[in-house]
Amino acid sequence: MTPLLQVKGLRASYRGSEVLHGVDLSVPPASIVTLLGANGAGKTTTLRALCRMIATSGQVRFEDRDVSGLSTEQLVRLGIAHVPDGRGTFAGLTAEENLQLGGYVRKDKHQVAEDRERIYGYFPRLRERRKQQAGTLSGGEQQMLAIGRALMLRPKLLLLDEPSFGLAPLVVREIFSIMRVIREREGVSILLVEQNASIALGVADQAYLIETGRIVLSGSAADIKQNDAVRRSYLGE
Ligand code: ATP
Repeated sequence: MTPLLQVKGLRASYRGSEVLHGVDLSVPPASIVTLLGANGAGKTTTLRALCRMIATSGQVRFEDRDVSGLSTEQLVRLGIAHVPDGRGTFAGLTAEENLQLGGYVRKDKHQVAEDRERIYGYFPRLRERRKQQAGTLSGGEQQMLAIGRALMLRPKLLLLDEPSFGLAPLVVREIFSIMRVIREREGVSILLVEQNASIALGVADQAYLIETGRIVLSGSAADIKQNDAVRRSYLGE
């Protein structure tokens, strides 16, 4: 099957110092792929490089088309949505206004309201809090809002950066179980960056392990879970 996203030799630097040294990975259609790694390994940089928020080299193919030279906005229009670490919601706007903004590149404005309802279906808490300023939502609700806002773009690929960060285990479980529902109902693929390997491997189909800017291991999530080094270093066993 042709991958939805295929990345070859992705390199990125900050101020002349290279931190990604040729990352290769692929994401099949309608699947959840997790990129695991320790602090500073290059997970966030990989997502930033993929959506061209930083200068990169290497080949990126999306839906079997070379998109290496495209801008962030062009990639968004093709269906790649990024939910950055720190979530990036607009604190002074209400939850609903944030969702509305998520649909800004859409031409089919009449369907935007329908989509908002669908997102409230995934995250009923957002409906309850729709008139509340995003900055006053709980961490979990802000994460839900950030994912909801990205879904308003009707993406084919969601790049999620540490959705579990700083959240209580119960909320993390809730958000991760919705990821599966989203993948199943919308056929969206998710590239999930996580430090919490245990929960990420629970939801993912496939996994990659990155160490100091290089992929050192990849395979099905089930196989990676059984890997001795992963169990010792990332699963705390
Ligand atoms: P974490 O989970 O801690 O965010 P990560 O795997 O996402 O880790 P990155 O944030 O991608 O790691 O960082 C990779 C490397 O690039 C690190 O050495 C980091 O210090 C460096 N780095 C990240 N952002 C910048 C920046 N804006 N300027 C300079 N160096 C940076």
